[in-house]
Amino acid sequence: MKQRQLNVPGYTKVVHFEEEASGLSAIISVHDATLGPGLGGCRCRAYGSFEDALEDVKRLSKGMSYKNALGGIPFGGGKSVIIANPKTDKTPELMQAYGRAVAAMDGLYIGAQDSGITVEDLREARKSTPNIVGFPNEKGEGGDPSPYTAYGVWQGIKAAVKKQFGSDNLKDKRISILGLGSVGMGLAQHLHEEGAIIIAADINEKALDEAKNRFNAEIIAPEDAIAADADVFAPCALGGSINKTSIGRLKAKIVAGAANNQLLTPDMGEALHQRGILYAPDFVINAGGVISVAREWAGQWDGDELRGTLTHIGDTLSNIFDRSEKEDRPTADIANQLAEEIIAKARNLSAAE
Ligand code: NAD
Repeated sequence: MKQRQLNVPGYTKVVHFEEEASGLSAIISVHDATLGPGLGGCRCRAYGSFEDALEDVKRLSKGMSYKNALGGIPFGGGKSVIIANPKTDKTPELMQAYGRAVAAMDGLYIGAQDSGITVEDLREARKSTPNIVGFPNEKGEGGDPSPYTAYGVWQGIKAAVKKQFGSDNLKDKRISILGLGSVGMGLAQHLHEEGAIIIAADINEKALDEAKNRFNAEIIAPEDAIAADADVFAPCALGGSINKTSIGRLKAKIVAGAANNQLLTPDMGEALHQRGILYAPDFVINAGGVISVAREWAGQWDGDELRGTLTHIGDTLSNIFDRSEKEDRPTADIANQLAEEIIAKARNLSAAE
């Protein structure tokens, strides 16, 4: 396998792996390893170009550094991308080659699941390295991070509702969920159990039928989810839902969902703040899944303990909301600063040792 280390200033290690026999072309990026090895998922996508893939893995691995720091787990930020069509190009040989690439990082990177990758794919990769995480235990618990991401997002929404409306009671609160997939559907279940009214948008008709049957959800077109008459807008599909064009249509007083990179550009944090819309920074509210796989990695996965820990996502967000109010600064800026402070403190401590 050919390996080429890329010179990316500010990043611990970024390597491009290529192998002709299996067709592998993958980039593994470790943004920061101060808190521990870079932990983050592997995404498989038919990127338009190598540069697109590099940009994606850089952005995602940096996000993981911040997410893992604020999630309180002893891991740095890492991510990997396989440049391939997940529907047509994935083979056991490709995934085993990816596993060899992970092995070549010598423990600096721990891989997990992300879009375009299944647990079966991870099993193939793990034939080549132990440094892959995200498998259910013998009781079938753990593994897929989505239910724990959903649990954390639910807790985060409660914290945001409390800040904005004075009580965390979700009864009759109207919540517009864009994307009823693995996380969005689990989130809707928690919210429905608390008496919230679900407004559901998706491009997948089957998901909408399920939301209608299970939660009596009101159905709305995806392009209108942001403009729904709702208390909370919960983006749970793709990134970038909050942008220059869409922000003026937002009716909800809270943006809190699972999607990564919800703000298309960083200035959207300030724009939401100026409008009095409370934004739960994505990498804080959606950390439940990575906290679950971190527990699995440590051999300490326990459902009750995990759910207890995930309620702290609400506490972390409440602190961010209070500080944002006090300092009159966007919540996204506060969250970034807190994560950078945690990493800097650990770096200074290890330098002093
Ligand atoms: P998923 O693929 O299971 O679900 C995504 C859903 O969004 C699907 O139902 C899909 O049909 C729908 N969708 C896609 N494009 C859409 C569009 N243009 N308009 C409306 N609906 C659309 O993914 P997931 O695992 O539920 O993750 C959802 C989001 O949360 C992603 O942004 C992901 O990166 C992020 N996230 C997930 C986890 C996790 O544990 N799965 C953890 C952190 C962050």
